[in-house]
Amino acid sequence: MIDIHSHILPGIDDGAQVLEDSLDMARQAVSEGIHTLIATPHHQNGKYINEKSSIIQRVNQLNAELEKQKIPLTILPGQESRIYGELVEDYIEGKVLTLNDNHKYVFIEFPSSQVPRYAEQLLFDVQSEGLTPIIVHPERNSKLLENPDLLYNFVNKGALTQVTAGSVTGRFGKKIKKFSFDLINANLTHVIASDAHNVSGRNFLMAEAMDVIRKEYGMDMIEQFYSNALAITDGAVCFKESPEKIMKKKFLGIF
Ligand code: FE
Repeated sequence: MIDIHSHILPGIDDGAQVLEDSLDMARQAVSEGIHTLIATPHHQNGKYINEKSSIIQRVNQLNAELEKQKIPLTILPGQESRIYGELVEDYIEGKVLTLNDNHKYVFIEFPSSQVPRYAEQLLFDVQSEGLTPIIVHPERNSKLLENPDLLYNFVNKGALTQVTAGSVTGRFGKKIKKFSFDLINANLTHVIASDAHNVSGRNFLMAEAMDVIRKEYGMDMIEQFYSNALAITDGAVCFKESPEKIMKKKFLGIF
């Protein structure tokens, strides 16, 4: 399994703090069947700044350590940028890193309770640079939960989205779990990833999430998510079905 979102690099954000934490996370990832993991440290979220060159250097160091420890996991470079006005300029200047540095897919995180007014324009500008934006964990954004048509609009205009494994398993509560399934049903998400920060409270949960999805939708859906994670890693084209609007229950008059 490929996991495209994690905070495994030590000491640079709120994920692994020291090398031993990273190694514990790596062992847990392997035990869940993950062989390739994209390290996506926070960038420009108001707390952490992690630019491309330093991420790549740290990924190389961690891979060397994994090899030394004989842990069969490959780390690839990535970054989780909070949406910010200079994101495209910073990409051009080499500070913003695409997933696996392939100049195809870029992670974009919204603040947890807002969608900035300039989001639509910024997502357009990102695509004008030849990149596909992947909106991370939209199911955990309270504004999108309230108004899922906003997300429909972004996906309809070419953005992809990534739902977090823990959201599917219920780790973030019933409301977020239900919204995750609404997103899957409406073709509003394209890939599942862990967003793992550690081995306790924010662990991988990928095997469990895939189990939940397989029981609900069958193997086809699992294969679709697997192949999109691979496509993103390879810089290839993702499988995408036409997005639909989420019908709110009150709209249907069912309570
Ligand atoms: Fe994250």
